[in-house]
Amino acid sequence: MATLATLIDGKAIAADVRAEVKKGVAALKAEHGITVGLATVLVGDDPASHKYVSMKRKACAEAGIESFHHQLGADATQDQVLGLVRDLGADDRVHGILVQLPLPKQVDEKTVLDAVPLSKDVDGFHPLNIGALAMKGRDPEFRPCTPHGCIELLKRSGTEISGANAVVLGRSNIVGMPVALMLVEQNATVTICHSRTKNTPDLIREADILIAAIGRAHFVKGDWIKQGATVIDVGTNVIDDPSRKSGKRLVGDVDFDAAKERAGKITPVPGGVGPMTIAMLLQNTLRAAKKGVPSG
Ligand code: NAP
Repeated sequence: MATLATLIDGKAIAADVRAEVKKGVAALKAEHGITVGLATVLVGDDPASHKYVSMKRKACAEAGIESFHHQLGADATQDQVLGLVRDLGADDRVHGILVQLPLPKQVDEKTVLDAVPLSKDVDGFHPLNIGALAMKGRDPEFRPCTPHGCIELLKRSGTEISGANAVVLGRSNIVGMPVALMLVEQNATVTICHSRTKNTPDLIREADILIAAIGRAHFVKGDWIKQGATVIDVGTNVIDDPSRKSGKRLVGDVDFDAAKERAGKITPVPGGVGPMTIAMLLQNTLRAAKKGVPSG
């Protein structure tokens, strides 16, 4: 009988990261009198964005990080958003700036993200940060939170990355591409699959590590998984489930029940990658504040 995969507990690993950050935040205050600060910028009234920002602010409070929240209306102009981001860039109390996406259509996301100073780009989305990630020997100022969370899950679950065959399903700017670059950095041999890839199941069958990030419920079938592989499921998809009170359920991109019969380790959805994103944001904010400490 096949043994079931070990569950990678994202909640527990994220709690460890958050406890480490809390310690670092307290030490920075005690040794250098620096209060770590994160600014959050929310434009409009998208309920999901409100929820994400409030979760991030709550996590900041728990870690001892001061958060400075700025709310602009759904009709805010590009100049208003840009002006705010520039002010925050010049504010010494603010070590990291988080602009919650998506922005309303009249505001150009690219222009706004480019205005976040590199030293405060705790989301890690600035092209120079992604560029540094792609270059050998360049340490980016910050690594994007969700992809970095995936790498931490691999490392802290004891998965050998160096020399492993890794398949990344998805090539988005925020997950697929940066996680692929980080896996290369960790000496994995990486294949990226996307919507034009012809033989995705066969490629996944060779993967010691699979990172699935396409946003399609249960796309990856159990028999695509290599025996003993580590599976990190980034996907968050809402499907109908009449057995639930809400009538809905959150599932990943991988058919979890079938995949766990073959994988060695696997993340659940929810409770896998999700909690890591906020933990890595806090870690980046601490890193940003530490850069302000005079050396020597
Ligand atoms: P995205 O920007 O929509 O990108 C999706 C990617 O999947 C694209 O590269 C697309 O390929 C590829 N794709 C779509 N259909 C495919 C198919 N049939 N076969 C192979 N590749 C296919 O999505 P994203 O922002 O990266 O997010 C992906 C998923 O992760 C979503 O479910 C999202 O909710 C979730 N997510 C979770 C977290 C978290 O847990 N904290 C954070 C971010 C995202 P092309 O490039 O060829 O179009």
